[in-house]
Amino acid sequence: MANRSVQLTLPSWLDEFLRSAATTYPTDTDRMGLAIELSRLNIEHRTGGPFGAAIFDESGVLVAPGINLVETSNCSLWHAEMVAIAIAQTSMGRFDLSDGGRVRLELFASCEPCAMCMGAIPWSGVTRLVCGAGQQDAMDAGFDEGAKPANWWAEFEKRGIAVQQRVMLEEAAAILRKYAATGGTIYNPKSSRL
Ligand SMILES: [Zn+2]
Repeated sequence: MANRSVQLTLPSWLDEFLRSAATTYPTDTDRMGLAIELSRLNIEHRTGGPFGAAIFDESGVLVAPGINLVETSNCSLWHAEMVAIAIAQTSMGRFDLSDGGRVRLELFASCEPCAMCMGAIPWSGVTRLVCGAGQQDAMDAGFDEGAKPANWWAEFEKRGIAVQQRVMLEEAAAILRKYAATGGTIYNPKSSRL
């Protein structure tokens, strides 16, 4: 019989980390720094892939963290961006984070979105996306970002989502390289082909 509910469980280290972490992140560097730190801690604790994300309000208050939980949750949906979106939406009690255009929330991601997240982010209601590492950095680590247009960001801008790329790229890409160098699992759409 099919499951009638799906649960997203965050690892306990994340709770512990956030208890002693700042609650407000005033600058883009602070916000991206948190996304990258989450990606680093996720591989250190072996709870998922080398990707972190976080959603903030305009003043920098942390609304939701995100880490890649694909392996530990046995669910390919749980990329860091998707986790952050799911936590923000369920904790705020609305599927449109913009609340009909009245609220501006920003998604910071340690790596630019894959094809799945590229599709999901505009539905979420965030109004700004800031990325660290780029597609090439993910590919260099062995990840396949999936089919997406080269100018994916232009489609975001058309929908009122401001995009900024390559923020703290070196720091973000270093986590991807570290994960690949230490033999972390690389899962891809192409690797499911028999
Ligand atoms: Zn993704």
